[in-house]
Amino acid sequence: MAEAIVIGGGAVGLAIARELRRRGLSVILLERNQPGRAASWASAGIVSDPIGRPDDANFQLDVLSRQLWPTFVEALQAESGMDPEFRESGCLIPALDDAEAESLACLIRAGLVPTGQLLPVQALREAEPVLSPSIQSALWRPGGNVDNRRLCKALEISNRRQGVEIRTGAEVRTVVVASGRVRGVELVDDHLSADLVVAAAGAWSSQLAGCQPRLPIVPQRGQILALDGGPVNLRQVILASGDPYLVPRADGRIIVGATREFAGWDTSLTAGGVAGLLTRAIRMVPALADRPIQEMWTGFRPISPDGIPLIGPGQASGLFICTGHGPHGIGPLPGTTTLLSALIFGEEPPIPAKAFRPERFTSGEGA
Ligand SMILES: Cc1cc2nc3c(=O)[nH]c(=O)nc-3n(C[C@H](O)[C@H](O)[C@H](O)COP(=O)(O)OP(=O)(O)OC[C@H]3O[C@@H](n4cnc5c(N)ncnc54)[C@H](O)[C@@H]3O)c2cc1C
Repeated sequence: MAEAIVIGGGAVGLAIARELRRRGLSVILLERNQPGRAASWASAGIVSDPIGRPDDANFQLDVLSRQLWPTFVEALQAESGMDPEFRESGCLIPALDDAEAESLACLIRAGLVPTGQLLPVQALREAEPVLSPSIQSALWRPGGNVDNRRLCKALEISNRRQGVEIRTGAEVRTVVVASGRVRGVELVDDHLSADLVVAAAGAWSSQLAGCQPRLPIVPQRGQILALDGGPVNLRQVILASGDPYLVPRADGRIIVGATREFAGWDTSLTAGGVAGLLTRAIRMVPALADRPIQEMWTGFRPISPDGIPLIGPGQASGLFICTGHGPHGIGPLPGTTTLLSALIFGEEPPIPAKAFRPERFTSGEGA
């Protein structure tokens, strides 16, 4: 018997398991496939300063996370010996026409991008020479990306070294509750007891029987691909106001992502999806037209009804939920872990926790 069970070995489950172990608990992480192979593997790993209002829950989670990223990565690298390649290269949102330029200016005027600044054309050319000459302005803000696949691997290594038991091929069927307390979990062929259970099953969270409140998470497909960047020296993350975004990896690849589609559990790459991403990517950086495609894949974002993740206690004592991060699950990872562990250990949360309450949809508070 462990003191804590974590269901799901994505970035969220792996980071929570690490934190619980650091706090002295014995931890078993249950992953039905292999750790870090679902949304957290598919992701582009963008980590950027937030856009929004200071009282917005996601904004606060992002601000907290941005403060924590450097120390989080440093500690993880020391524990695992693996560099997750967190790079603060900056993020550019280019204006593709006059209307987009005005929208970006509006964001700045409204104070929604506190750390952002508009780059005039000369500064833009110097900052990112490979952008199309037709782009006349852009909004710059701090940020960058982490190689999410390496991040998951580093988390897995760190967990194993610190004594977390990671069981692969371990599919949880039911969260077991009796007399208002969580007692453990039923797997397909086993039963495990624990007084603390954290449900972090990503896009599959609604399938966890016995978990109350029911988790209204749906999968959103993202099609995404990697180009061999070769001589195209993209320096920063490029975020178009719609899709696509371009992410330069330390290994020379350029990630082009990603569609946002409600297509059930269909893992297909589609002609229209890939064509749309590539057409718009080449419009922003024309030199990409000649670059070889290295890899294409899809993943499922765990989408919550109001766009805010579910972080906090479930109905049974000892049950905690952490899922529903949608299109931004890697960026807010350190803040998510810190918030959840404060709630588990009964400490003052580092940011207001009410907006993240998992039961908000059953009590009629949510969207
Ligand atoms: C194409 C794409 C691009 C993205 N780009 C970005 C980005 O640039 N920046 C950003 O911040 N976010 C991005 N995201 C979002 C981010 O990747 C996700 O929000 C985040 O990875 C979710 O992590 P997770 O651990 O909750 O889910 P997952 O990584 O999906 O992990 C859930 C795990 O739970 C396991 N599991 C499920 N059910 C069970 C069960 N019953 N028993 C045992 N195990 C179970 C699954 O096998 C899986 O391994 C992107 C997502 C996609 C798909």
